[in-house]
Amino acid sequence: MTWQGIEGHDSIVERFIQADARGRVAGSFLFIGPHGVGKGSFALALAKALLCEAPRPGLEPCGGCRSCLQSAAGTHPDIDIVRKPEDRATIPIELLIGDAEHRMREGLCWRLLLKPALGGRKVAILLDADHLSEEAANCLLKTLEEPPDNAVIILVGTSLERQLPTIRSRCQIVRFRPLSTDAVMRILAGEVGPTELNEASLRMAAASSAGSLVRARLLLDQEVASFRDRLIGLLATRPLRGVDLARDTISFVEAAGKDAPPRRARLRIVFESAVEFYRAALQRAVPLDGAGVTTAEAAIAGPAARWQGDADEASAAISRTLDALDALERNANLAILVDAWTAILEQPRLAQMS
Ligand SMILES: [Zn+2]
Repeated sequence: MTWQGIEGHDSIVERFIQADARGRVAGSFLFIGPHGVGKGSFALALAKALLCEAPRPGLEPCGGCRSCLQSAAGTHPDIDIVRKPEDRATIPIELLIGDAEHRMREGLCWRLLLKPALGGRKVAILLDADHLSEEAANCLLKTLEEPPDNAVIILVGTSLERQLPTIRSRCQIVRFRPLSTDAVMRILAGEVGPTELNEASLRMAAASSAGSLVRARLLLDQEVASFRDRLIGLLATRPLRGVDLARDTISFVEAAGKDAPPRRARLRIVFESAVEFYRAALQRAVPLDGAGVTTAEAAIAGPAARWQGDADEASAAISRTLDALDALERNANLAILVDAWTAILEQPRLAQMS
């Protein structure tokens, strides 16, 4: 039996159950973990449990009360979700405290001060916490330090390094790990049903997902899975053919359609897969633990082992690709980003000196 269908995060579930049983659920949390492992879903499940009017032991929401029904419908008036707008590089301050004309008369921090609509408490979920501007982070500090009236605030980000120390020190930090391949398999199988896809494609998507359910769902698309193989082939080729890499990546990204989010999701897979490839190559060049065992999945391990670059080159490629991932999150122009990234991969040594 999983808690509210949440897979792969049992120890975190246990921690909240224990805290709740002692009546000591904190007010401010910072959820940290890789993209796509279910931090947002966990935050919503927790909100539902905390707001339930007739919870059962073990932090189990009853599923039938007014509050549970509204949580399930995504219309709960006391669950407040804020995220970075698609077209912005950071979370604007007005989403937290209102615009210049409505300071502290709008925004998340202000809404938290209002009485809960259903009488219990309020839960605020701030997604994309990696992208809080310093100004926006500063106006959150007081709210995090003393959440009003039993409120619970959950910030969701990908790495601790991306959070300001002032934010980190005011939150209880909860770390989410990548999901196991088996957990990803189980979730995917539950989502797609038994007949639609065979077990082999589910396993392939799960194995290449690096524990991210979001990525696994994308990899179920044959076009995405085969481009990923082609990408690994291109990266493994020496000398790297930057023009081909740029052209193929752009057409892969554009084939996602006109909307920005699916295009961004595809480019994220490209960058993340490249990081995995170079990490596997680096591991081969500088074996950790002296064992030379690579943890990469088979599809990457083979090409990475044949790659002829050295450790410096692999490290430079990793750090530049992580920069590109960062820029992607900050709403960079995708075509320009791909051009810059491929140009750098062609000239890793120059990039290192800059
Ligand atoms: Zn309930």
